[in-house]
Amino acid sequence: AFLAVSLEQHLLEYDRRHVWHPYAPTVGADPMLAVTAADGVRLQLHDGEHRYEVIDGMASWWCQIHGYRNPVLDEAVSRQSSQFSHVMFGGLTHQAAVDAVKALVDLAPEPLDRVFLADSGSVGVEVSLKLARQVQIARTAARGGTLTRTRIAALRGAYHGDTLGAMSVCDPVGGMHAMFSDSIPRQLFLPRPPSFDADVDAVETWCDQTDDIVDAHRDELAGIIVEPILQGAGGMWPWSPACLKHLRQRADDLDLVLIADEVATGFGRTGKLFACEWADIVPDIMVVGKSMTGGYMTQSAVLCSDELATEVSRGPGGSLMHGPTFMGNPLASAVTAASLGIVAQGGWQDDVARINEVMSRELTPLRDLDGVTDVRVFGAIAAVQVDSPIAMRRATRTAVENQVWLRPFRDLVYAMPPYICTEDDLVGMAAGMRAVVTDQLTHTSLEES
Ligand SMILES: *Cc1c(COP(=O)(O)O)cnc(C)c1O
Repeated sequence: AFLAVSLEQHLLEYDRRHVWHPYAPTVGADPMLAVTAADGVRLQLHDGEHRYEVIDGMASWWCQIHGYRNPVLDEAVSRQSSQFSHVMFGGLTHQAAVDAVKALVDLAPEPLDRVFLADSGSVGVEVSLKLARQVQIARTAARGGTLTRTRIAALRGAYHGDTLGAMSVCDPVGGMHAMFSDSIPRQLFLPRPPSFDADVDAVETWCDQTDDIVDAHRDELAGIIVEPILQGAGGMWPWSPACLKHLRQRADDLDLVLIADEVATGFGRTGKLFACEWADIVPDIMVVGKSMTGGYMTQSAVLCSDELATEVSRGPGGSLMHGPTFMGNPLASAVTAASLGIVAQGGWQDDVARINEVMSRELTPLRDLDGVTDVRVFGAIAAVQVDSPIAMRRATRTAVENQVWLRPFRDLVYAMPPYICTEDDLVGMAAGMRAVVTDQLTHTSLEES
């Protein structure tokens, strides 16, 4: 007899044997689902036996803001690939990169008008850390002193990426610093700021604690890095604009470089084009990525003022010491220009307002459930926090059976929907989240009894 094995089973079996996945072991890993198609806000999934159609509540890790197979973005990629797909960026330039940079400069606040195109969010963060160091090297040389300002202050609860420099500014516990302690630089950690709507007392307490730490280390510090207003992968935590304003002020007082990592928050996700606008501040360096290409390609950008760039360029190093092989990749740059062209039309404002309204309405009632510790809806981000670590395998299955793709982490079931989600899509997504939360609560209470 003949055992029929589907194409999907072959794919999944080969994957299981040979492919690494993000933050996953190769033994005892949860089963994968194969994506067989993607269109608009929907993915077609296959588990080897069954096919599922799901709404993508993750927007592919917060990137796919304009949806899959977006005709404008598809056309940008195919037009560029019919010309050339890649060319080195050392000594050469091209229209796609200039278009991407122009789109960025037009959207970014003044005076951020000098752009370094990098490969990914993490690489962008690395570049920003090196740039901050080179700024201090240049300033020290101008004063004729010896460099002491080399460390970076970061927030507890932060996430800035997975490369070693970026890891060094992630939350020391959540970022597993102990495991890599000999290979990551020792940075300085400030307390996690109080919530977005924190009262004056909470803000003042935080400012005092922060000032004590910063003042004690002022001569060692090169800069401060934050995810402005929303800590993402560290816990979906919206924090007080007054605290960000305070950090801007401290950076000015002490001549520190303020880096805003807007990789998750940039291009409208929090309800402002850039999250720094909530505090009415402009950082010295801004890093963007994720949704920049509409989730089509990997590309990020580091922006600073031309004045800062000039300072570094006249300093001892002369050049900014970075240059990825695929810098300014034409396919990625073409799709960045196209994606930011859609952002520039401004429709995201209504989209984010709609997502916020529907998710607030659909999820707030979960607050009353025993075991739900918080429901946070901020901009186009919705998170439900529970009092136990989410059982991932169960959660994924429950979500998929409810026609939604979700990827919870720690104690959070969250969604970062594509901007183009309709009200019906969002209602469906929220129903899937409720199903996962309810299942998690029943399942843990059964285990406990
Ligand atoms: C995702 C993320 C990064 C890392 O980006 P990669 O493209 O995964 O390297 C950095 N900072 C923030 C705030 C992020 O959310």
